[in-house]
Amino acid sequence: DQSRVFEIKIIEYFENHKLLIATDITELYQLAQIRRDFVANASHELRTPLTVLHGYLELMRDMPHEGHWDTPLEHMHNQTLRMRAIIDDLLTLSSIEADSITAELEEVDVPSMMQHLHIEAAQLAKPEHHLVFEVDACLALKGFTEPLKSVFMNLISNAIRYSPDGGEIKVRWYQDEQGAHFSVSDQGLGVAPEHIPRLTERFYRVNKDRSRTTGGTGLGLAIVKHVLEKHDSHLQVSSVLGKGSTFYCRFAPARVILLNDFE
Ligand code: ADP
Repeated sequence: DQSRVFEIKIIEYFENHKLLIATDITELYQLAQIRRDFVANASHELRTPLTVLHGYLELMRDMPHEGHWDTPLEHMHNQTLRMRAIIDDLLTLSSIEADSITAELEEVDVPSMMQHLHIEAAQLAKPEHHLVFEVDACLALKGFTEPLKSVFMNLISNAIRYSPDGGEIKVRWYQDEQGAHFSVSDQGLGVAPEHIPRLTERFYRVNKDRSRTTGGTGLGLAIVKHVLEKHDSHLQVSSVLGKGSTFYCRFAPARVILLNDFE
């Protein structure tokens, strides 16, 4: 029956014997699709009224008004920006899930991307942060440019935001026989072991209040996870509470492109 969806697992259970298990997951698949469409439609519908609110708030903020309105107007304006960021991230997630980045693989010039990210990171960082970028200037990747940029930027901006007292933030892009590697290490808050497996869930936060005030959407690592899956990679986290964290991912050698140093 071609309208059903199956999950196929092959299990090796004895020398040269394989067991093929097909599970009918049609209902699960349809439910996931309904959820995806609902989130995408709801996010899309919320965007227009929010744009109107945002526009009027900006107008009111910039028009002559009594001084005691300054703070409330500034707060409302900031909150509409936050809602906008959440809606945009929800739309990004649904479009990744709907496979809309199965387009042509591109040659991603990671070294020059890192230069831009370094500039963006310096704008986010506080004077107490010490940014270190160690980048292999010849190492590019087969992948999807904009989604990968958002993966790297999400991890770098988290490292900055969750190191409130500063410290070194080290970004590395290097290769060895296992492929290309990206890592971000910080000396910040760290994450307790029980939270680590859940970090890539939507809206999962270790400390809800802190995350809200630091301006995240709660969707960053969910986006990272999905984009990495599209690159056959996954996020790894090692962290010590109170000492800092390293977020890391690897790309298979088949994805590596070496740029000519002399060009
Ligand atoms: P948020 O917008 O809340 O930052 P993310 O999906 O990017 O959402 O991250 C989820 C949670 O993972 C964060 O709320 C935070 O608790 C934790 N986290 C992410 N990066 C770090 C880090 N570098 N150090 C400590 N905790 C982190």
